[in-house]
Amino acid sequence: MSAETAIKKVTEIPAGEVARVREWIDTEEYREKNFARQGLVINPAHGCQPLGAQLAAYGFEETLPFVHGSQGCASYYRSTFNRHFREPAPAVSDAMTEDGAVFGGQNNLHEGLENAFALYKPKMMAVFTSCMPEVIGDDLTSFIRNAKLKELIPQDFPVPYANTPSFNGTHIHGYDAMLKSILEYLSEGTKVEGKCSGKLNLIPGFDANTGNYREYKRMLEAFDAPYTILADISETFDSPLDGTYRPYPGGTPLAEAAEVLNAKAIVSVQKYATANTVKWLGEASDKPMEVMPMPMGIAKTDAFLLKVSELTGKPVPESLKKERGRAVDAMTDAHQYLHGKKFAVFGDPDYLLGIVSFLLEMGAKPYHVLCSRATKKFEKDMKALLETSPYGKGCNVWVNRDLWHMRSLLVTDPVDAMIGDTHGKFAARDAKIPLIRIGFPIIDRVNLHRIPVIGYLGAINMLTSIANKFLDIVDETCEDRFFEMMR
Ligand code: SF4
Repeated sequence: MSAETAIKKVTEIPAGEVARVREWIDTEEYREKNFARQGLVINPAHGCQPLGAQLAAYGFEETLPFVHGSQGCASYYRSTFNRHFREPAPAVSDAMTEDGAVFGGQNNLHEGLENAFALYKPKMMAVFTSCMPEVIGDDLTSFIRNAKLKELIPQDFPVPYANTPSFNGTHIHGYDAMLKSILEYLSEGTKVEGKCSGKLNLIPGFDANTGNYREYKRMLEAFDAPYTILADISETFDSPLDGTYRPYPGGTPLAEAAEVLNAKAIVSVQKYATANTVKWLGEASDKPMEVMPMPMGIAKTDAFLLKVSELTGKPVPESLKKERGRAVDAMTDAHQYLHGKKFAVFGDPDYLLGIVSFLLEMGAKPYHVLCSRATKKFEKDMKALLETSPYGKGCNVWVNRDLWHMRSLLVTDPVDAMIGDTHGKFAARDAKIPLIRIGFPIIDRVNLHRIPVIGYLGAINMLTSIANKFLDIVDETCEDRFFEMMR
């Protein structure tokens, strides 16, 4: 660049000052200031409510997610799914702008519903909101009723909707709100006294790992137990590439979802991400209803399978018992690579409880456990879990903290590795430790959303990726004299 075209910086920061601050942010003094921070979040470990609502919508047959609100917000949810799954993430938005913000978004919603229905011919549209219509107080109940009165969409066309204000809650709360609304809508008037569909209804919760869904199905099929997954994204985001574009692959059939209140039993494996759905189901259904932790690690998978056995009246299949034995064998063979290692873990509450449980089983220390939006109840649950093992002693639970807090923790009170989604890579790099990618979103590695982390197979998978990461580091960094063939 020539001297004439050089851009003059607004603020010149001397190189010495950059170096000083770089060093300072690694100190205890800075950590204290960082933890005194209020009213500012830096790199939060969660997405916004409507993003979660969109994932719930994708789990149902031929359902078009419909964002009532800003186009830019809608692009963020779509691109996040698109990058995580490396699949198309079709959704529409009624693209509210300044006039919508002033006069309300009814016109946008009506035009959007009419166009989307005509163009994309879905079987259902699931409507949820970005922040803007929530701030101005748009009334979705009457807006959608008016759309039907004006015959913009047919009277009997299903349009469940959820209010998903992102200034309150995270993607798991949006997921919960949308799932509840869809199930409530579809099951209206379907409950029949004494009727039983014979199916176990399983609610995986906010889980962006298509491999986990396949694993749930494989386990239930091993029981030969009829089941329905609510809401099933395994095909939606992992459909075969065969030259034909299908706008709505997979999803739970609407007719099956409508039978939820006549199920043989209902099981949710994410207590925090389905709290309201479960509450409503508990009131609306008279069938057995169980809320369990995600089956991650041996003990939690055992509990899940025993519960399925109890609810279906079928014994745990021999094939799964053998798998358990293989997982225990793999964990025993590799325990020395994880035993005593310290980890920092961040993510959604239900995932965190599963990962921490697995680490404790391996004799590893989940030293910093961070959840960027969580209740006191979660904090209590996590502390109680840590107390069940000697390896949980001295471990720390950080709630309502972000990944900039995590960075301070890593540089002042270090660990051997971090577990979480892609957002943790900056803190991990600064702390010079590896990031084991489990969670959502993972947008800088391929195929991890296809590799299950639940069940016995999931335990082997987690163990493999963590232990091999440590072994890779040894091979890459050791002195020549310690470079061994065998590890
Ligand atoms: S937080 Fe609100 S404004 Fe931001 S992307 Fe989410 S919905 Fe849109």
